Amino acid sequence: MSDTHALNFLEETIEQQIKNETQTTPIVTRFPPEPNGYLHLGHAKSICLNFGLAQKYKGITNLRFDDTNPETEETEYVNAIKEDIQWLGFQWHNEHYTSNYFSQLYQMAIQLIDKGLAYVDDLTSEDIAKQKGEPSKPGTESPYRNRTPEENKRLFEEMKQGKYTNGQKVLRAKIDMTSPNMHMRDPIIYRIKHVPHHRTKNEWCIYPMYDFAHGQSDAIEHISHSICTLEFEVHRPLYNWFIKQLNLYPSQQYEFARLNLTYTLMSKRKLLQLVQEQSVSGWDDPRMPTISGIRRRGYTPNSIRKFCEKIGVARRENIIDVNLLESCIREELNANAKRVMAVLDPIEIEITNYENAKSEILLADNNPEDPNSGSRELTFSKHIFIEREDFMEEPIRKFFRLSPTTLVRLKSAYILQYERCEKDEKGNIKKLYCTYFPNSKSGQDTSGIAVKGVIHWVDKATALCAEVRLYDRLFLVENPSDSEKTLAEILNPNSLQIIRNALIESSLATTKPEDRLQFMRKGYFCLDKSSTEKQLVFNRIVTLKDTWQKEIFSH
Ligand code: ATP
Ligand code: MG
Repeated sequence: MSDTHALNFLEETIEQQIKNETQTTPIVTRFPPEPNGYLHLGHAKSICLNFGLAQKYKGITNLRFDDTNPETEETEYVNAIKEDIQWLGFQWHNEHYTSNYFSQLYQMAIQLIDKGLAYVDDLTSEDIAKQKGEPSKPGTESPYRNRTPEENKRLFEEMKQGKYTNGQKVLRAKIDMTSPNMHMRDPIIYRIKHVPHHRTKNEWCIYPMYDFAHGQSDAIEHISHSICTLEFEVHRPLYNWFIKQLNLYPSQQYEFARLNLTYTLMSKRKLLQLVQEQSVSGWDDPRMPTISGIRRRGYTPNSIRKFCEKIGVARRENIIDVNLLESCIREELNANAKRVMAVLDPIEIEITNYENAKSEILLADNNPEDPNSGSRELTFSKHIFIEREDFMEEPIRKFFRLSPTTLVRLKSAYILQYERCEKDEKGNIKKLYCTYFPNSKSGQDTSGIAVKGVIHWVDKATALCAEVRLYDRLFLVENPSDSEKTLAEILNPNSLQIIRNALIESSLATTKPEDRLQFMRKGYFCLDKSSTEKQLVFNRIVTLKDTWQKEIFSH
């Protein structure tokens, strides 16, 4: 976060606290993912915020796996989460697991029981929900609410020992069944789950609820600023209640608005559904808004951090245009990416006045935006390929590319003039025949011919074949999380287009996994993880926006 920006509300709070001397030690934040899926862009916002604040105010950030739901949590997710945070460019101070605190949390529950502030309830969770009442109407007290601490302790111990089946009993905090805040109406704090945990295995069959685990874990780690999304605002009184009753380190909860993006789903549960229903190839499908998906797609960590900086942090809910995300990577790649030529839908041209066996080497600038990027060699010979759409036999108005009536420049090469074409039985054009102007070579052009169009091409003699994957938004509707339709119904059927026979310039044979390239006039691309030396596979990271006009006029 740069200092030139106005402070966000959390920075303001912290600076105030430092000034007031209510914060005299370095701040401690945490990022607390539940390991039940892969991280998405919403988590990136939270990561940038938590780590960013600690960096700015010289504090520390812990990584804490909030692993209290054994059914859905897995070590695979733990590892993926760690990889994603590090890829984003952050390193946590300590790595913690809520499950490491299970014994301490159990002792805290006993303390509450001893104080008469928790009781074992035999009602089913459905009945408990029914008896909660409504915000305007008080709830009904459970008939088990006034068990003695001794009885509660015995029953809770038996719950822990596995005497009861799932759901047969729960432990509830004894707070206030008339509170206008529903979370304060004797919330369940422990439930029975005979389910092995990915870390504690079969050690426990009772597990604490989020509300009973999160604040206390913060307190155990001396988290000064526990930052979460706005939906937890209503949990804050309960968060504070446990800390107070248990006399723990006074961690404070602060809430901010979650990230919502247009045409994007941001919920691990729903992203998991896409994976399970095979609507995508996996968590790292390049169309997924997961960190691993956008990484595979070719986004850089810097572009994601930049995006998080641009969207800012506030307490007002909103939805961010996905174009903002795209503009962050586009801006970076425009400055850095090497320009190369790839023809996605090739049509052959024979240059009739070019010598048969001749081949020449042309120099092409790697990146006109970067004077230090140097140049590379291209071969040029009698047979080349251009993009099928760059030729029109009957050109429409303002068609400045190749046609019987318009000349065109081949990027970094020569000006071409159309001669004739060859068609198949169905009338489809199979091949073009052109002539070139030998004195029109880019940089040394003495032909005096003015052309309006510049197109990309590849040399047939040296071009390589590649697979190219073009991505579009995964959903058809602007706000998929609000849609009443099923996920399958709102999926964009054209979100992935695979081009198997693209032709690319030979310099791309040595493309490395970390390279990001501009295929001129087609967008920015990188190698997909499935790419091999024999079969190169490229992902389109993002399209070029508004650069088409610019490209076309530059030689
Ligand atoms: P999901 O609903 O996708 O599972 P979650 O909030 O349950 O998300 P957690 O693993 O519990 O996921 O979240 C870890 C942290 O990331 C929490 O502090 C949470 O508030 C934050 N977070 C999750 N989603 C977003 C989002 N869309 N924008 C900002 N922060 C988010
Ligand atoms: Mg969650």
